[in-house]
Amino acid sequence: MTSAAKLLLGCIADDYTGASDLANTLTRAGLRTVQTIGVPASDLALPEVDAVVVSLKSRSIEASLAVTRSRAAETWLRGRGASHILFKICSTFDSTDAGNIGPVMDALRADSKDSIVLVTPAFPETGRTVYQGNLFVGPVPLNESPLKDHPLNPMHDSNLVRVLARQSKTRVGLVDLATLARGADAVRAKLADLVSGGVGAAVIDAVFDRDLETIGQVALDHRLSVGASGIGLGLARALVAASRAKPDPKGATRVTPVGGPAACLAGSCSQATLRQIASAEKVMAVLHLDPERVVAGKDEAQRALAWAKERLAAGPILIASSSTPAEVAALQSRHGRDAAGHAIEQAMADIAEGLVLSGVHRLVVAGGETSGAVVDRLAIPGFLVGAEIAAGVPVLRAVGAGKGEMVLALKSGNFGGPEFFSDALALMP
Ligand code: ADP
Repeated sequence: MTSAAKLLLGCIADDYTGASDLANTLTRAGLRTVQTIGVPASDLALPEVDAVVVSLKSRSIEASLAVTRSRAAETWLRGRGASHILFKICSTFDSTDAGNIGPVMDALRADSKDSIVLVTPAFPETGRTVYQGNLFVGPVPLNESPLKDHPLNPMHDSNLVRVLARQSKTRVGLVDLATLARGADAVRAKLADLVSGGVGAAVIDAVFDRDLETIGQVALDHRLSVGASGIGLGLARALVAASRAKPDPKGATRVTPVGGPAACLAGSCSQATLRQIASAEKVMAVLHLDPERVVAGKDEAQRALAWAKERLAAGPILIASSSTPAEVAALQSRHGRDAAGHAIEQAMADIAEGLVLSGVHRLVVAGGETSGAVVDRLAIPGFLVGAEIAAGVPVLRAVGAGKGEMVLALKSGNFGGPEFFSDALALMP
């Protein structure tokens, strides 16, 4: 199970969903990838993998804390032999003049002793492109996109050379698209020029996937890069092209069967999830929780568990708290939005814990916050990313969990087709 093989790529992601997106992107590009929740214990046993993505929650916390946590992740990844580290940020460069991209980059750069760091949040397949150092979100510059009104990190300047220079102690330069278009050696020459001029970080343009591939190739000359899933894709493709990673689509998609009973939990009230629950009613036993009773105490979760235990042997089951927008609004007005949400999330975590104790090792969870509560409760340190059930929703195999082999699917509300629950279980033997 454990492997002494060195990691080809270590990633430090500044939030959980960004980490999942990156881990999924790396897997699709052929790297065997584990995503961890926070900095793992030093003795975490891993299957044989090419890349580890450590998920932090450091995007909008105090900069010095973001630096400390990122460094702890860095130490863990370097300890596992990672020769290159990607600091994964949001593709919209979410940050303020106080950080956290600049301070974390400065600290990791000092540790890596790199002369220059390549920086790009470009991810063309999601409409994030960089030209002359300016970030575009779809057809508009960042400062004209909805990100200008972001509640935590409003972005009023699309010129990333300026934005990063305000947050960082490093001098920031630009590698433009014209240079990039001339190939990896032209980029290397430009970087050497910048270094001789005292520049330590270079924002690099990228408009097409092939630009990311050139960037990935050059970035591998260095020990650190900064960017979103796009540069992750470039790094993965460069590792595969250099035969340092052997793409093994079967290996990436194969999940060791765990067998036994399977269960689904739905805490999302999105339209998509409501439709998926309605479809599941045709093929599995479904219990609708009474949200009012959930908020009132623990009995409803116990009732649900008793209901589940009677049915688990007969086939998959689904337990849902989800209700219509009008019912959700009514519950929230009686109890407050946060209190109602928290009580239901904790009930879902209680149910998940009870199900696992009853032998369920195949679990599908609908809802972002709901998934977070379940994963926290089950104390799962990380996941090996497998095949995609729907765009952006892979099968996950728990690694290092004390509760034995387990496969999960965790989806945000709006993801997946109408048959999502059966689709997921079909890929989770
Ligand atoms: P999504 O991914 O669709 O946003 P989340 O799980 O992130 O789903 O968020 C759904 C939130 O709604 C959670 O806090 C959950 O506990 C809460 N919730 C679930 N069912 C109900 C309900 N019937 N009434 C009110 N809130 C609910």
